[in-house]
Amino acid sequence: MQKKREAASDFLQRLGQFGKTGDTGVTRPVYTDAWIAAVSWLQKEAQAKRMAVSVDTNGSTFMTYPGSESTEIIAAGSHIDSVVNGGRYDGAYGVAAAYLAMTDLYAEYGQPKKTMTAVAISEEDAARFPTTFSGSKHYAQVDETDPNLKDSDGITFEEARSHAVSALPSFVTRQDQPLPSEWFELHIEQGPVLDTTGTQLGVVSSICELKRFNVTLTGQANHAGTTPQHLRKDPMKAAARMITALDNYAQAVGEPLVFTVGNLTVEPGASNAIPSRVTFSIDVRHPKKAAVDAFETKLNEEIASLNKVDGHIDSLMEPYPEVVMDKRLQDQFSEICEKKGYSYQVMPSGAGHDTQIMNRQVKTAMLFVPSRDGISHSPSEYTAPADLERGIEVLKAQLYLECY
Ligand SMILES: [Zn+2]
Repeated sequence: MQKKREAASDFLQRLGQFGKTGDTGVTRPVYTDAWIAAVSWLQKEAQAKRMAVSVDTNGSTFMTYPGSESTEIIAAGSHIDSVVNGGRYDGAYGVAAAYLAMTDLYAEYGQPKKTMTAVAISEEDAARFPTTFSGSKHYAQVDETDPNLKDSDGITFEEARSHAVSALPSFVTRQDQPLPSEWFELHIEQGPVLDTTGTQLGVVSSICELKRFNVTLTGQANHAGTTPQHLRKDPMKAAARMITALDNYAQAVGEPLVFTVGNLTVEPGASNAIPSRVTFSIDVRHPKKAAVDAFETKLNEEIASLNKVDGHIDSLMEPYPEVVMDKRLQDQFSEICEKKGYSYQVMPSGAGHDTQIMNRQVKTAMLFVPSRDGISHSPSEYTAPADLERGIEVLKAQLYLECY
């Protein structure tokens, strides 16, 4: 038992050597040397476990045990890239879990009836190019990444991609993959819910609808000493009132609605001048689209009710739509947890995941393990070895039911 309990932890420790920063940090943006080394290592490990290993155009790795009775594919995985100075667990755990669950199953039960594939998605974390989910968008046949996107050194996505994919081991088959019929992703929660409640696992019900806006309030710059209060057109005070009103609204609606003002710019930005312009970002998320839309309505009402100051809202990105997990596969995760006596909570994901892209084409389900103190995208990311193993045990049971 003891040896088994540390398999995932050991795997993440070894994978974490590629792009290691400090004692526990990882910097592994897509197509960097650290990324190439990590993927190459993984591919050799998979080959040693008699998996058929292939890589697609974007550099996502597929480690497969072909089915004996069906060509239907059941896939599980996550992303192998990381943010700059991230941790060992984000993404990597989902890759480790899929790989270990499948190699364990193969060792115990032999060839599956349906094809079973562990996937290391090339990129999710947007650490290098101004794009995200480039790996899963390609795999899911949803969208292709603009090859001319540039990183901060002026290297294009296409240059980086072709260099990296050609640098991978030559025994690996270069081939795009057909869609699986089911997709499973294990991930650290990246939030504090499981850790603070002492719950062992999170069965994900949905991924939150997400919208982001940029609000611009324009007033009139003037002297801080000579302009009477009642004659001011002060966008900063209007911004403060608006943010407070939105916060009061969010409190009244209650959780799981979350909204964040994470960026605010004041122009001209002098302590002795009334600002001329204030811009701030708004990020709002909720598992239900209707709740996010209602928040947007409230935001528009706030803009319409401004006086002396002009307001303008821009969408910062295409909204990420509400994503609902496959009910049968989600319930099966819950049933497995119950049978094994593990505590679990059915919960939405406030963070985005590759699963939201896969979900556009195939049935999906996700499982969370606790993140210590809810921390992610940091060298302080940590999940206890026993928690890592528990997630894998549940995934194994799910894959057994679906593949054998
Ligand atoms: Zn992730």
